[in-house]
Amino acid sequence: MIIVMKQGTSREAAEKIAARVAELELKPHIIYGEERNVIAVVGDDRRKDRTAFETCEGVDQVMPILAEYKIASKETKSEPTIVQALDLKIGGGHLGIIAGPCSVESEEQIMETARVVKRSGAKGFRGGAFKPRTSPYSFQGMKEEGLKILAAAREETGLAIVTEVMTPHHVDLVASYADVLQIGARNMQNYQLLEAVGGCDKPTLLKRGASATMDEFLLAAEYILDRGNQQVALCERGIRTFETHTRFTLPLASVTYLQSKTHLPIVIDPSHGTGHAYLVPPMCSAAVAIKADGLIVEIHPDPPNAMSDGAQSLTLDVFEETMKQCRVIADAVGLKM
Ligand code: PEP
Ligand code: MN
Repeated sequence: MIIVMKQGTSREAAEKIAARVAELELKPHIIYGEERNVIAVVGDDRRKDRTAFETCEGVDQVMPILAEYKIASKETKSEPTIVQALDLKIGGGHLGIIAGPCSVESEEQIMETARVVKRSGAKGFRGGAFKPRTSPYSFQGMKEEGLKILAAAREETGLAIVTEVMTPHHVDLVASYADVLQIGARNMQNYQLLEAVGGCDKPTLLKRGASATMDEFLLAAEYILDRGNQQVALCERGIRTFETHTRFTLPLASVTYLQSKTHLPIVIDPSHGTGHAYLVPPMCSAAVAIKADGLIVEIHPDPPNAMSDGAQSLTLDVFEETMKQCRVIADAVGLKM
């Protein structure tokens, strides 16, 4: 970090701060300027409360240099992490495609959808059995019965099952059916859930909280990594802004930004990110064009009658067309699909 002293404060004030830095077993270097003095702190200061220096006499500003996340950082590991479950590969030049309905509703709905997903060449199948819903009166998911249906879809198609786990108590249960555990946007900062998933051996898809900053997102991933689970994919699913023409605002720049900061793969969710089916295919194309590491797309055999998120669900036909388009773009940018 860099500690900037207030204008006109004495050399002694800077030396006092430097002594405090040394007490924390970090190395201070004082730069005496014409207008103000600055202390450059060398060493890993992430375990210290860096902001506390702001309360010291004469300090104007404290500027952290090291990102607080460590294991997630590219500084720690420069080669890309490939998250893999069955044939689904996300990252390191592999474009992992996951598609399926928002919610598991019935065996017929899941089987019909899974067969189309398989035929399209995608390797992952999504479907929520435990659903986090804004209203307590909305459909809450088929729970374990839904997980059994998903496992049957994997049995027939070989697709890797991606499904949400909402509480630490359900991690073992969901992990016994799923290939990838999804942590939803609402739970991105549920630290007990992050730790529980970090302690198991299932790959994880961590969705960005609707109001989380990039640093908060990466620190949430850090919780999982710190517990031992290194198979973490990040999912940009849109954030809340003042804008109302879409359900959320989908920042595609997150892909390039995150790829510059972390070795973890980045998946785009254009369904929750826009909330409208007609916006989903172009956002899929755009995400592939900028070399996102994966897509997770909501699709349904009969969107008008879906139990959740029908408005943003592609029909099976439109999904197949979208996949064809993505394949052309993936080839052009050198991603394996
Ligand atoms: C979902 O994937 O259906 C879901 C609930 O997503 P999110 O957590 O991003 O809202
Ligand atoms: Mn949904």
